[in-house]
Amino acid sequence: MKILKFGGKSLANNGIDKVINIIITTLQQEPIAVVVSARANTTDELEMLLEKAANGNDYLPYFEKFKEEQNYNFEVSLESELQLLEKLLEGVSLLKDYSPKTKDLVLAQGELMSAKIVSALLQRKGVKSRFVDSREIFKTDAVVGNAQIINEVSEAKTRALFATIPADTVAIVTGFIAATEKGDTTTLGRNGSNYSAALLANYLNANELQNYTHVDGIFTANPELVPEAKIIRNLSFEEANELANFGASILHAKTIIPLIEKNIPLRIKNTFNAEDAGTLINNENTQEGIKSISVLKNNALIVLEGRGLLGEVGVDARIFRALAQKQISVSIISQGSSERGVGLVVASKDAQLAKAALDEEFSHDFYTNDVSEVSIIDNVSVVSIVGQPLSTFHHPYNALIRNQIVPLLINNAVTGKNVSLVLKTELLHKALNVIHGEIFGVSRRINLVIFGKGTVGGTLINQVIEAHNNILQRKNISLRIVAIADSHNILTNAKGIGAQWKEDFAAQAVPYSLETLQAFVSEHHLENLIAVDVTASKTFVENYIPLIKSGYDLVSANKIANTIDYSFYQELREALKQHQKTYLYETNVGAGLPLIDTIRLLHHSGENITRIKGIFSGTLSYLFNTFSAENKPFSEVLQHAINSGYTEPDPREDLCGNDVGRKLLILARELDLGNEFTDVKIQNLIPENLREGSVSDFLSRLDEFNAPYEAIKKQQAPDHVLRYVGDLHGNLASTDTVQLDVSLVSVPRNSALGQVKGADSIFEIYTESYGDNPIVIQGAGAGASVTARGVFGDILRLAEKSIH
Ligand code: ASP
Ligand code: MG
Repeated sequence: MKILKFGGKSLANNGIDKVINIIITTLQQEPIAVVVSARANTTDELEMLLEKAANGNDYLPYFEKFKEEQNYNFEVSLESELQLLEKLLEGVSLLKDYSPKTKDLVLAQGELMSAKIVSALLQRKGVKSRFVDSREIFKTDAVVGNAQIINEVSEAKTRALFATIPADTVAIVTGFIAATEKGDTTTLGRNGSNYSAALLANYLNANELQNYTHVDGIFTANPELVPEAKIIRNLSFEEANELANFGASILHAKTIIPLIEKNIPLRIKNTFNAEDAGTLINNENTQEGIKSISVLKNNALIVLEGRGLLGEVGVDARIFRALAQKQISVSIISQGSSERGVGLVVASKDAQLAKAALDEEFSHDFYTNDVSEVSIIDNVSVVSIVGQPLSTFHHPYNALIRNQIVPLLINNAVTGKNVSLVLKTELLHKALNVIHGEIFGVSRRINLVIFGKGTVGGTLINQVIEAHNNILQRKNISLRIVAIADSHNILTNAKGIGAQWKEDFAAQAVPYSLETLQAFVSEHHLENLIAVDVTASKTFVENYIPLIKSGYDLVSANKIANTIDYSFYQELREALKQHQKTYLYETNVGAGLPLIDTIRLLHHSGENITRIKGIFSGTLSYLFNTFSAENKPFSEVLQHAINSGYTEPDPREDLCGNDVGRKLLILARELDLGNEFTDVKIQNLIPENLREGSVSDFLSRLDEFNAPYEAIKKQQAPDHVLRYVGDLHGNLASTDTVQLDVSLVSVPRNSALGQVKGADSIFEIYTESYGDNPIVIQGAGAGASVTARGVFGDILRLAEKSIH
């Protein structure tokens, strides 16, 4: 025989037909008995009516509504229950008080009406059913509200009664309620129908208990809070028990015990999706590992502080005694061995009372200053990772810290593998997603905010969107762009901006400010944030430190942050360190070429870099490669570069050499040298009389380049070519700064620099171990798509870094 139990939500008006169907279908296969809860919110409503009546409020209109809801259109007589309720409520409103016994009797009517209705509806469908008032079979002690079952008596009575029920008749048993041997009504505690069903399964030696709820089963986390949560198909009794203790509300803590005793499997199923197999709980070993994250909300943390707590004997005993006297239960206690504080977690509703009790208990110690304060931190939640061994706890913990979620308290079970974290409830939603992403290895979300949607920005956005599915499959990372901003407006979408971002931006973007962005990010509890600066802005850098402080890692193609004064450079690194954030900027030098990363690796591994020399500008590379190879006037080559879009709109920005100077400076700082931009000696390639004046005037006088450059070309030794070279050299080991030169030099045609073609960049890295043979990195060092790829590479590096 199977026992089927239906919860309140299943029995609500939108579910009851499904319940009837499930009963009929199951009955066709084997004998069953059914246990029901009160329908929908009936128990809550009865509690509310009692309170209203006791407080002298006019409960009658509510009671009228309650009666209507109960009767619905079932046409089942609920006269006796509703009349009893009417009388009881009237009495309570006269007395303005009620006893716990009265309360149990009132609440019991919910289950009684529910079982009557189900039984009647079945009969109407031609199914033989029998309403069973569990007060006749379940006997308890007299502790009302949370009565204890007397097993031998209850078992005997249950068996005796079921012996009288014919095999073709299904019993519909009230859950939750029982009676003392004297006959007074008692209840088994809220959600107690599950326990009733487990008892019945035990007494009748059922082969399975099916618990029909409104969800598919037990999940790795609450799916309403964690969209990625997955159903758990199998749990052992022990694991289920842990979950029950940590707030998985489907499982009543007492439910498991009668089932373990007789080894009866428990299946959690969904009334509204009955085909789903649900979650099966039995005594078979399941895979080791973390099972689920559960949450207890509505808690408060009580903190006791004072110097006298250290080494004092009996403090804990006094705390617990004071709280026990007020019936306050403590779920977590934490006490640092060297700290001066004790932290206790209690239910929010008990917080004031707990503080008062402790204030009183320690009043003398206040006087002697041994205890300085008892304070309440309210609105905290306890998140328990059930099955989490301490040995790998650093993974979820690090992920929390990276996302700026700092738990107030951490607690682990000495036996069993559980870790509980106490944190502010406002952080709960985000925390659950971070922890869940970390330990279940389901796709980890990385949320990108892209500043700048120009050539590089636009290309990057398209690349990221295009690569999304691929990265998800290969790396289990869901890389989503949640915001795109230009200097005026911002487009946001917490689910990720899609390929039609340009249209969306035009239609939906709102005025940009950092505050708008922050509000959006906190509203959607976005974790693992990366800010990407692909602007050309000179001022956006002001936002870097605020962004780091709000929890972003940074990626930029923009060079400003690394080339303004060294004190800012250091301040930025300090902020990164303090907030455990990372800033990557591989494309600052040589676009997508892996230059900065290589230099950083060499430098950090202790390799002495003695010189870095190369062609840093793709534009100027093209210019001199062509000029040296072909017999054309300089102006013609330059004009071609301008026409092909290789130069900035004002080509003087390339020709003045500042951009190369900045790149050289960035490399110097990468080697921990404190150079400033003013230290870079730059040979300006623009003839002096062309440096001022408008762009159009400049563009009309390009032939003034010809004479001087023709002369330079002629002066060279045989088989030499011109290259515009950045050179970082000097005594790197002993000085804080180094020589940085940017100049036009003549090099042998068959040297590495001399052989560069097209618009390639080349970098020679000389180090002590490599001696005279430098490490050479060469390739396309400019252009929107290689730059965007490089930025993308940095983003991926950060994304993978957040993976253990
Ligand atoms: N009706 C009771 C309650 O809501 C018992 C139950 O549903 O299990 O707590
Ligand atoms: Mg219920």
